[in-house]
Amino acid sequence: MVNNPTELDMLLGAHVSIAGGVDNAVDRAADFEMNAMQIFSHNVRSWSTRELTGEEIDKFQEKRKEFGIEYAVAHTSYLLNLASPKDDLWKKSKKGLVEEIRRADLLGIQAVNTHIGAHTGSGMESGINRLVAALKEIESTDVFQNSEVNILLENTAGGGTKLGSDFSELGDVLDALNYSNRYGVCIDTCHGFAAGYDFATETGLEETLEEFDHEVGLDELKLIHLNDSVGDLGSRKDRHAHIGRGKIGDEGFVAVVNNPNLRELPFILETPKEKLDGKEADRVNLDKVMNMRE
Ligand SMILES: [Zn+2]
Ligand SMILES: [Zn+2]
Repeated sequence: MVNNPTELDMLLGAHVSIAGGVDNAVDRAADFEMNAMQIFSHNVRSWSTRELTGEEIDKFQEKRKEFGIEYAVAHTSYLLNLASPKDDLWKKSKKGLVEEIRRADLLGIQAVNTHIGAHTGSGMESGINRLVAALKEIESTDVFQNSEVNILLENTAGGGTKLGSDFSELGDVLDALNYSNRYGVCIDTCHGFAAGYDFATETGLEETLEEFDHEVGLDELKLIHLNDSVGDLGSRKDRHAHIGRGKIGDEGFVAVVNNPNLRELPFILETPKEKLDGKEADRVNLDKVMNMRE
């Protein structure tokens, strides 16, 4: 059994905890021999952030080099709502995203991945306009302009008033941002499946990617969140399952990790962390994915 993604010529990792300091996340990734990782750069349940120390930043970067973690992405706080019609929340969210970019830049992380918000009743078009206006303001900040951190917009499962479950909404946003190369898209397979895009079969995947290419453009795709889905196709349920143990299943993931349009992209697991078959769930899911690679 192969247990090293680098040998398989793939970028693979999982979301890892920063408990005890951001550099500890790199140790956690290295314990599983990942070469890609995702972190929260702060406590995402709170608006206030603790400043990163110089020591923490140095250790994070040194360990990444030492352990060969080639790809790292920071997932933004779930409190952000860049599409909100409420001015106070919208302003806080803009500041929050700038802070996420600043921290990623300090850590030498190449991208922040963000959910694109919810219109909370103002309507999809109004939500998209708010989001685009927020991103345009963020673009003009020194923090953004003096960094090389890219912003990845993640698709959602839909449900409620969330933006980004339909690929056309992601396309509209990128279009309004003139398809700047500072943006890209992250597809979460669980979210996509729950939103009604078939990832469970090879034909389903091909149709899904054809639609993505038409609505957004495959060149914009920069990251895959590799999660199976507890809910059925189109269920709009954002509930992640272990790889192969949800409604997408083995056939779907074999197709995803080997697809010529996807296989070079970083794959990040956001699967549950409880024990699985008596082992760490990440170990089981990472092995499963590596064994699917052809
Ligand atoms: Zn995700
Ligand atoms: Zn999710």
